[in-house]
Amino acid sequence: MVRGAPDKFAFVCGNSTPFEMAELKFLVRVPMDTWRQWIRHRTANVNEYSTRYSEAIDSMAVTAPDEWRLQAGSNKQGSDGFVTEWPEGWLIDSNDTHWLIYPPDSGCIAVRKSDVETQDGGEITSGQFLTHLELLNQEHLVANYKLRLAFGVAREQARKDLPLSTYTEAYWKVDLHNLLHFLALRMDSHAQQEIREYATTIGEQIVKPLFPLVWEAFLDYRLGAITLTAIDQRVMTALMLAGNLPVTAEDLKYDYYWPEVTPREWFQPKCRERTEFEAKLARLGFLTE
Ligand SMILES: Cc1cc2nc3c(=O)[nH]c(=O)nc-3n(C[C@H](O)[C@H](O)[C@H](O)COP(=O)(O)OP(=O)(O)OC[C@H]3O[C@@H](n4cnc5c(N)ncnc54)[C@H](O)[C@@H]3O)c2cc1C
Repeated sequence: MVRGAPDKFAFVCGNSTPFEMAELKFLVRVPMDTWRQWIRHRTANVNEYSTRYSEAIDSMAVTAPDEWRLQAGSNKQGSDGFVTEWPEGWLIDSNDTHWLIYPPDSGCIAVRKSDVETQDGGEITSGQFLTHLELLNQEHLVANYKLRLAFGVAREQARKDLPLSTYTEAYWKVDLHNLLHFLALRMDSHAQQEIREYATTIGEQIVKPLFPLVWEAFLDYRLGAITLTAIDQRVMTALMLAGNLPVTAEDLKYDYYWPEVTPREWFQPKCRERTEFEAKLARLGFLTE
């Protein structure tokens, strides 16, 4: 659907083939773990840098100390908040030159004080420790890769232990129809932050200036749209007819038992469908504390 000029309110509905006429070709540089998600979009044409033919790109994505995200409790595929604490039972000590970190069940991990920049002479943070270990790992794995090459090991085999943080490069050609599908999935809050950042940059900095009317329509009718399932609609109608909107999440969980309206799973302590419905109600301003 797109707003057409000169009549801003003329829509083309359901006819997506015009969007297949516009093609975009990108040269992208992406860490392997993000690329693994990206490459699942089968409707693009890809020509990727070959690490059989050439040496692997000597560059890796590094996570900053304050960017280690915590596993989300509510969503098995997501993250929520940042690592700011040490796990239970871990002890931190120091001598003149090193931070001495004691995991509960094993020896001591020593980190040179000169390798981490603590704030105002404070203690090493859990995030700094994780970033420090990441850099050590990457250094070790790259050295191992280069050592294999020095032994004459074939590039196709030498690469097998390179980390997923290694960058790859690819030409990625896609038509506008499938690019908008990619952006709808990967700019969504359910997508992993890393690919979301790439998608948002492509959307806002490339698609928007090239196709301003399409972008406007995409935001209004796709990205910003809310899909109500048949169950959502039944619950919403029942809540409205009973005069019970806005509603709290707790009330939604326990007080509205309509066997003819909601499936049995709705009343389980954890129900993804109900949680998603709550999020939709919140966006509509119908969820209250
Ligand atoms: C938040 C999120 C979580 C995800 N989690 C997982 C996961 O846990 N495990 C996992 O394996 N994947 C996961 N994926 C990947 C997902 O299953 C898709 O592979 C990916 O999003 C590409 O979408 P697509 O197939 O619609 O796109 P494309 O491959 O570009 O296809 C576009 C459309 O073309 C049609 N199409 C393409 N190929 C075929 C085909 N062979 N048969 C029929 N129709 C076809 C479909 O209509 C499809 O929607 C996740 C994706 C997202 C966004």
